[in-house]
Amino acid sequence: MKEFSSLKGFKDLLPGESERWEWVESIARTTFRAFGFSLIRTPILERTALFTRSIGETSDIVEKEMYTFKDWNGGNITLRPEGTASVVRAYLEKTSHTPILPAKFYYSGPMFRHERPQAGRLRQFHQLGAEIIGEIDPRQDVELLSLLHTFFKRLGVEGLTLELNSLGCPVCRPAYRTSLKTYLEEHLPTLCEDCQRRFMANPLRILDCKKKECRVITKKAPPPLDYLCQECSDHFKSVQKGLRKLNISFVIRPHLVRGLDYYTKTAFEITTTALGAQNAVAAGGRYDGLVAALGGPATPAIGFAIGMERLMQLVPPSPFQNLPLHLFLIPLGKMAGEYLFPVLYALRRKELRCEMGKENASLKSQMKRADRLGARFVLIVGEDEIDRGTTVLRDMATKEQINIEFTELTETILSNVGLRD
Ligand code: ATP
Ligand code: MG
Repeated sequence: MKEFSSLKGFKDLLPGESERWEWVESIARTTFRAFGFSLIRTPILERTALFTRSIGETSDIVEKEMYTFKDWNGGNITLRPEGTASVVRAYLEKTSHTPILPAKFYYSGPMFRHERPQAGRLRQFHQLGAEIIGEIDPRQDVELLSLLHTFFKRLGVEGLTLELNSLGCPVCRPAYRTSLKTYLEEHLPTLCEDCQRRFMANPLRILDCKKKECRVITKKAPPPLDYLCQECSDHFKSVQKGLRKLNISFVIRPHLVRGLDYYTKTAFEITTTALGAQNAVAAGGRYDGLVAALGGPATPAIGFAIGMERLMQLVPPSPFQNLPLHLFLIPLGKMAGEYLFPVLYALRRKELRCEMGKENASLKSQMKRADRLGARFVLIVGEDEIDRGTTVLRDMATKEQINIEFTELTETILSNVGLRD
């Protein structure tokens, strides 16, 4: 069996847990739609170049986390490590001719990163994300953050913190970068090996390092906020003002950066204290440079991704879980089985959760099964009942018995059992 066991960092989603996912996904669907987002599904495999270009050669993802293979024709392909690059690619390829901007997409699905598996960190994990493409207005940032806020509220997830920062733009970033490098240079020998490498290629990412020795140093580093140009500073102020107006609380985390290269201006994380080290439930920000980097016209954009596995650990038990059966049909004998099987079909088509016992099993064992499945009602049909043309519907909770004529079997069941959940 070991030979066929699942891969490390890859998990099955099983009944018992899957109902909660269904519930969260259904809340996501209604919430995201209300905010004007449409579902997009992109392929799981893409050309490697899409990710190296958009996520950046010097990011952790591209440097060491991607599942990259040779395709049959020798081309490099990669299992998507995140969703934004593919959404932008699809937007440019298929939908950029749309006259309605901004384009608003949401997605949900598996992502793949070859990381060290641990609590809150898998190799196949799932993200639920949203992107607004084609709008620079800070109100879009507020809209996106208010969507996240609403979604978590509807799920009943408590104790989250919205952490906010601004990373500047190509106008103000160079000055900040220089200042950060000047500061870090003094401490270079104490930084971890990875950060020493990052110092040349991408010093901002050093602020994201989770190693203790680096954190001590980065805590005192100059923050990007001190270097924002007028436009970025105004933008950031408007975002904060907008959030306050909607009563959405946040904290400024001056050293928050994103691991991905294409972020500009607003960057944020939603964190919790309930998950230990892996405390980010969602993350995102503006990426005004990405569409152009992928060959499109200069187009501002903003998005986020929620880590589903981490979110699921915070979601209270859902109403979808352990849903009992509405009705268990008990046929006694072959004739009753033949009679009830189409009834089962008719009721299921009306969305009643029903099961039927085995016609040759005893009444006692079928009742036992109805009980185990938590059936609210049972209906017993044997030859006697068929001869008489009537039977009873038994309410397992109240022990109440309702007489039913066979001529109105499904109608009576439906009106009594209803869709009570
Ligand atoms: P982290 O700092 O935790 O590595 P990240 O910066 O790599 O996160 P993003 O690429 O921004 O994360 O992904 C957004 C969200 O996806 C994260 O906040 C997290 O909830 C989730 N996530 C990222 N990587 C994993 C993983 N390996 N396993 C489970 N969830 C993940
Ligand atoms: Mg990561």
